[in-house]
Amino acid sequence: MAKQAIPIREDGFVVHPHVVLLGAGASFAACPNGDRNGRKIPLLKDLPEILVLEGRLEAAGFTLPIADFEETFTTICERSRHADLRAEIENRVFNYFSELELPVEPNVYDHLVSGLRPKDVIATFNWDSFLIQAMLRNKAFKTGPQFLFLHGNVLVAHCMEDRVTGFPGNTCSKCGKPLTQSKLLYPVGKKNYAEDGFIASQWDQLKRHLGFAYGFTIFRYSGPKTDAEARSLMANEWVSSPIYRQSEVEIIDILDRDELEKRWEDIIFSHHSRVAHDFSRSLIFNHPRRSTEALYDSLLMCNPRREEPFPKVKSIDQISSFIEPLVREEQEGRRNIGA
Ligand SMILES: [Zn+2]
Repeated sequence: MAKQAIPIREDGFVVHPHVVLLGAGASFAACPNGDRNGRKIPLLKDLPEILVLEGRLEAAGFTLPIADFEETFTTICERSRHADLRAEIENRVFNYFSELELPVEPNVYDHLVSGLRPKDVIATFNWDSFLIQAMLRNKAFKTGPQFLFLHGNVLVAHCMEDRVTGFPGNTCSKCGKPLTQSKLLYPVGKKNYAEDGFIASQWDQLKRHLGFAYGFTIFRYSGPKTDAEARSLMANEWVSSPIYRQSEVEIIDILDRDELEKRWEDIIFSHHSRVAHDFSRSLIFNHPRRSTEALYDSLLMCNPRREEPFPKVKSIDQISSFIEPLVREEQEGRRNIGA
């Protein structure tokens, strides 16, 4: 563990990032009744049914119901005779996730992109483009967090040479060549994060931010055993941060607190953890754009800050109106925010 230091605060604002990790359950929690058009948000185990793959899997010799899709898909990838089946599954996954649309009314994703600041990071394992859709419809976003796509994304394209990222179909702003569609990293036991340049760059940035982060929120990500390599990458950076002993891990999940703390014991320092069973109980929801300051006040000053949660509203514009004075305060660098 690195030599421990006190978190840095400038003009009343904590400079360390809040890193938020989204698992498949986060998109499910955001759209419990499906997307704008009623399409279900699949968890990995639901893919065979939702993508109507069961007939194809049975014809290829797999026994239904599929108990562990990761295991099945790993087998498919390992056997060359299943090459066509693999291509078909990947195609269906890509098409299905490309079509998912955020519901019209304000959503967890709107709160995530507007409730964090440019120093903060949202790293997602999800293939859906909900983060990007929320970014596009939230006017306050120009001052929002960075996104990292740890398993690729259906709505991200890039030019590796120029390190330019954009939408599929766009051209690179530097070399003028068409941007390359991001690959999706599929659920196989041994994922090779370094193989694809874009995905490797996302992981590098995540590691860099975790090594300096103050808050680390894990939102409905189960850290499955097939992600062991990813877990240890993250844990190593986080626990070697110079402010690790001052920091806090927040877990947003429906499971029992004891079970969650056991699951993440390798990254939680002492008692520095909190559990929210619903996003509305999270740091970001209750301290929009001030999550790291709220941590600072409660952990270092022993003076928890009053919650000023997102209001219950019907339109995205109302979220922007709520966020606006907070953004102005940040831009003016005011010192009177409780430093
Ligand atoms: Zn280029």
